[in-house]
Amino acid sequence: MRYLFFICLVFCYITNINAQRQPWQGKFEPIDNMIAAPNSYRTASGAPGEAYWQQRADYKIKVVLDESQNTITGQETITYYNNSPDDLSYLWIQLEQNVNQKGNEDFGNFNNSLKDGMTTRQMQFLTRAIEFPAGYSISYIKDSHGKAMTSLVNNTMMKVVLDTPLKSGESLTFSIGWSYPITDRSLFFLSREGYEYFPGDDNTVYLIAHWFPRMAVYNDTEGWQNQQFQRLGEFALEFGDYQVDITVPEDHIVAATGTLKNPEVVLSKTQQNRMEKARSSFDKPVMIVTREEAETNEKTKSKTQKTWQFTAKNVRDFAFASSRKFIWDAQAVKLPTNTVMAMSFYPKEGLPVWQEESTKAIKNALEVYSEATFDYPYPVAISVNTSNVGMEFPMISFNGGRPKNGKMTQNAKAGMISTIVHEVGHNWFPMIVSSDERKWMWMDEGLNTFLHQRTIAERYPDFNSTTPQSIVPFMTGDKNILRPIMTTSDNELLTQFGANFYQKPTVGLQMLRHSIIGKELFDAAFKEYANRWKYKHPNPADLFRTLEDATATDLDWFFRGWFFTTDHVDMELTEVKWFKVYEVGQNIEHQKQNIQMKVEMDEPAATAADFSSGPEVIKMNTTPDQAYGGYLSRLDEDELRQQLSGKNIYEISLKNIGGLVMPVTIEWHYTDGSSEIDRLPADIWRKNEYEVKRTFIKTKEVKAVKLDPNFEFADTDMSNNSFPKVVTASQFDRFKAKQSND
Ligand SMILES: [Zn+2]
Repeated sequence: MRYLFFICLVFCYITNINAQRQPWQGKFEPIDNMIAAPNSYRTASGAPGEAYWQQRADYKIKVVLDESQNTITGQETITYYNNSPDDLSYLWIQLEQNVNQKGNEDFGNFNNSLKDGMTTRQMQFLTRAIEFPAGYSISYIKDSHGKAMTSLVNNTMMKVVLDTPLKSGESLTFSIGWSYPITDRSLFFLSREGYEYFPGDDNTVYLIAHWFPRMAVYNDTEGWQNQQFQRLGEFALEFGDYQVDITVPEDHIVAATGTLKNPEVVLSKTQQNRMEKARSSFDKPVMIVTREEAETNEKTKSKTQKTWQFTAKNVRDFAFASSRKFIWDAQAVKLPTNTVMAMSFYPKEGLPVWQEESTKAIKNALEVYSEATFDYPYPVAISVNTSNVGMEFPMISFNGGRPKNGKMTQNAKAGMISTIVHEVGHNWFPMIVSSDERKWMWMDEGLNTFLHQRTIAERYPDFNSTTPQSIVPFMTGDKNILRPIMTTSDNELLTQFGANFYQKPTVGLQMLRHSIIGKELFDAAFKEYANRWKYKHPNPADLFRTLEDATATDLDWFFRGWFFTTDHVDMELTEVKWFKVYEVGQNIEHQKQNIQMKVEMDEPAATAADFSSGPEVIKMNTTPDQAYGGYLSRLDEDELRQQLSGKNIYEISLKNIGGLVMPVTIEWHYTDGSSEIDRLPADIWRKNEYEVKRTFIKTKEVKAVKLDPNFEFADTDMSNNSFPKVVTASQFDRFKAKQSND
């Protein structure tokens, strides 16, 4: 028995070796050697380990916005908790405003080539022709006894040297005084904050972000995450509680991270009453500041000031916006465990679409994301209008999109709503599930875009949303330029990061959800990841491991291909052979009268281009007794013959051209006009990564066969997916045609 089994193994093995024409690449091997090894901080199941620790920083900040000078001046006290097992002899503080300093141009990653006819704005980005005195002036750094502390600045990072090390388990309170000129956003490339001036009414909207010196992250994977801010790779931040007093001109309206603590001081009685009404308005927003009131504000130009006080608990950052131009609407959104105030702030230039759509978009995002992960935990979710860009901070985001002369095309409106949903969605990734953006842009952008596109698909079905087909043009790009998703943020090209860090992970997650794991298991696993890592710092390995751990699905092949390579999906339906079984003793002449049939018993059939020449007839012999060896049970030969009698047997030959192994979806079109889908798992490529054959029995006769008919796997070339071959424009050509039509 063992002998026979051995024979069979050898035989099968040889058959496979013969079929493989390219070297085995181990596409199904574990990725253990490509990701960080598990340890007591991060377990092999992808969860935080028993020794997981995280630093914490609480901030008390008083800041004054000087509208006449466009500067802000702050005094802050940081209490830093060293929860690490290590004693720290120095601290690193982030000074992101320094990226705008003259001399730091090369940080910007802006392609340094001149060309005829370039815009003045592009020229400004390249040359910094208009000088601007950007960056921090640090007036003091002192300890809790008022003693000056030693500091050293290296571009966007400041090292604070401690006289005695901060011991494991201890905390340190120290203060920093600082100021910086607020940047005009139009002067700087990839600017996420700054001011926007409106010459029409001589007013300014201030978007104030990465504005105060903040603690860098210290963790178990990086030590100090003190990689310089180079504009593309965003932020790595610790959680903490904030108490922020913002002093602005008296007629300004302030929108900020957190809860407003002194509404009786900064809001009129009418505004307070409206806010009360908004707290129980669940179906539509209530105007807190109307257009007419904002237009009156625009004219006052108050010289006196007032102070808005905010507190925020367990956030990793704090941002605010301030202007006398703001119109303000608010409504309540009820989630299972929290009621949130969704609020929008916009100048009249955003009307009417901002009043119609912004708060509604916040509500949609809050509902879909909460259902997919965990309930939004904070008291407010704010969308502030700006000229362009979309940029996220805890509880508040700055979102581009304005009508022209009160009108907006459907595309522009979809873009604006999509931006609001996306930036509000960032509250989950990375504001709560706090991955390291400076290192892995895809971890927050990819996961956020996945849920943002789901929100659009579910709540705005008329708008276009990302599907696997959307990534095809990127996947067919020049492999000399393409980077894998697992590329650190600042090493990606400005022309590529959108597709590679936003769209490609999104499509990957869509394929896992819809076509590889299945919706129910995937959704539970995604939720598991979000809940395991909320208010914590996950790494890529923690996501990969959790998705496998919570689904009992080996996904190493998928992560290896989709995240670590630039291979693409291109499956070729090389051939479909049609067979009928011919039995010795059967009246074949009789059968031949009924259907056209070719009988080629000795010579292999030539590759057929279609099914027109009829099925090939193959003979099925009786299994010889010795093949059963010692087995007492026997196959019921008659039963098997009956099952196959008159049936059509199709042998499908597939080639993996693109390199990525993927499941295969086969659509059968029958001669009676009906169709049917069979699904093969990616595992079919385990034994041969390049070519496989599979056999199917069909009662009906097949007219045509198509692979991936619903574009579930981003197959880059659909022209080789059909049998008989059909001449179609490739997806890429259609995409190009569509682009030129838009
Ligand atoms: Zn984003």
